[in-house]
Amino acid sequence: MIRAMSEVNVKAGIECVLKRIDEALARRPTDLARMPKPQLVAVGKTKPVELIIEAYGAGQRHFGENYVQELVEKTQHPDILQQCPDIKWHFIGHLQNNKINKVLKLPNLYMIQTVDSEKLATGLNSAWEKIQGDNKKPLPVLIQVNTSGEEAKNGVEPNAAPTLYKYIKENLKNLQLEGVMTIGAFGFDYSKGPNPDFISLMSVHNQICTENGLEPSAVQVSMGMSDDFEKAIEAGSTIVRVGTAIFGLRSKMTGKLNK
Ligand SMILES: *Cc1c(COP(=O)(O)O)cnc(C)c1O
Repeated sequence: MIRAMSEVNVKAGIECVLKRIDEALARRPTDLARMPKPQLVAVGKTKPVELIIEAYGAGQRHFGENYVQELVEKTQHPDILQQCPDIKWHFIGHLQNNKINKVLKLPNLYMIQTVDSEKLATGLNSAWEKIQGDNKKPLPVLIQVNTSGEEAKNGVEPNAAPTLYKYIKENLKNLQLEGVMTIGAFGFDYSKGPNPDFISLMSVHNQICTENGLEPSAVQVSMGMSDDFEKAIEAGSTIVRVGTAIFGLRSKMTGKLNK
């Protein structure tokens, strides 16, 4: 049952989701046995910093936000800075080129999951070089793929993703390209069979590994949310982005996805 926000038990939510991740992992077919154990990214969009701190207290370290303004506020919030020194922020929303500097300067930024063009990748690459100075570590990124073909969703077309992968690997030394990500269509009916978005992203993953001579385990796959993270893990996901199942429902007005 869904509880009201004030009653949400974040710690229990985290524990429950971690258990369900383990169970889904055990059901993965053997041909995916070498794919890494999925990492949980807790998506706290629209939720107050108190709940983020609660999740951190329960041992959660990776957090995702998809609005630039909210990421700016949460990453720099004094309570977060003080109580969550080891927090790792993932940006999972649409990033415009004019917001690159704003986002890359934020404390404890860990990864940008939504690189969907050469232009954005190039912008991130040069901004990171300037921001990091001399002893720099490359910025971890994922390529966002529009597997559902919906116009409202961002991301490169599946058949253009391997080209963007090669471009980034060969030209953008300040980016550490870790893999691919999709949001996919909502409300897929699993009585119809496997989710086509997951199949599409896994086939992009497969093509990238083959073309670049990489082990499947070397390329991360970010797919699966509250409704379908177990199905995503069974299909090969290595990063799941889960909000509602941990923090409770969001209001419709403010809970828009990836915008
Ligand atoms: C909101 C959001 C999620 C989490 O969605 P839930 O259904 O609440 O788990 C995952 N990924 C992205 C890109 C999102 O915007």
